[in-house]
Amino acid sequence: EKTKLRQLKNSPAVTLDGIDVALYANIELPGDVRDALDGGAEGIGLFRTEFLFLDRGDMPDEQEQYEAYKKVVKGMGGRPVTIRTFDLGNDKDLRPDNNANDRVKTNPALGRRAIRLSLSEPKMFQTQLRAILRASKHGPIKLLIPMLAHAHEIDQTLAALEQAKSSLRGEKVAFDENIQVGGMIEIPAAALAVGIFLRRLNFLSIGTNDLIQYTLAIDRSDEQVANLYDPLHPAVLMLLAHTISSAEKAGIPVSVCGETAGDPKLTRLLLGMGLRTFSMHPSQVLKVKSRILKSDVSELAPNVRKMLRLDEPAKLREALEKLNG
Ligand code: PEP
Ligand code: MG
Repeated sequence: EKTKLRQLKNSPAVTLDGIDVALYANIELPGDVRDALDGGAEGIGLFRTEFLFLDRGDMPDEQEQYEAYKKVVKGMGGRPVTIRTFDLGNDKDLRPDNNANDRVKTNPALGRRAIRLSLSEPKMFQTQLRAILRASKHGPIKLLIPMLAHAHEIDQTLAALEQAKSSLRGEKVAFDENIQVGGMIEIPAAALAVGIFLRRLNFLSIGTNDLIQYTLAIDRSDEQVANLYDPLHPAVLMLLAHTISSAEKAGIPVSVCGETAGDPKLTRLLLGMGLRTFSMHPSQVLKVKSRILKSDVSELAPNVRKMLRLDEPAKLREALEKLNG
């Protein structure tokens, strides 16, 4: 089975009816680039930069961040790399000095997390944006913003990016002037009001890990409710389908980078919704590719459309089994 999968490494991910699918890897540290390439990924769809904080008390400075980002783009040898700005402040507050007292009093998942934290720490944010921009002269980098909900957060982020660009221009430092900026769709409000994102950004990436958490009010790290964490909940499927089809209509690229993208049992469902870009843990890439090679979108899309009208969980599961059958 493993050797069979290895043989797929160099063949393109194309469906039986000739639709090209892009398969990217999620990484946490520059050292994961080797796993991404070994795993058969065509690029990095999500670099979770907050892991640069792992096991350290201070913030990596601009030069250190630049070196880390450069290492990833260079390592990927011209393949696209999507760098997400820090998603700090929640379950992944990796700083040993994070204030444990504050965190029990409030709910970190609903608190000053990710872009909210970055916008409230302009110096930290400028440092990261400058480092990413500087690295963009070494290869195709896209910038991805986590946990956006409001139009003004996008506008403020784009203004911060402009500021970082103009400071670099002033110093005559090279960077990609046309760097693409995307937003994570991982808050139900963002999925429902996706027009706000489509009008302001160059691409979208759906973070199903958080989207499911917030849609179902299930703490993704709480084992006591893990049995209720369900990617197939009809509400989750509605948000996914709405986001993907709205992006497609607007001509804005959309990917899924949460765990659902790496689950081969959900590959056909996502293909049928119109998804053409998947980003996942490197170990899943060839498994998902194997499903894609055996799928016919023209045949499964009408079945998925029917599935999306079902809101009875048992019927949905039955329909999924048939789709995968
Ligand atoms: C997600 O929320 O689905 C996602 C990809 O981001 P993270 O798991 O880092 O929150
Ligand atoms: Mg997330």
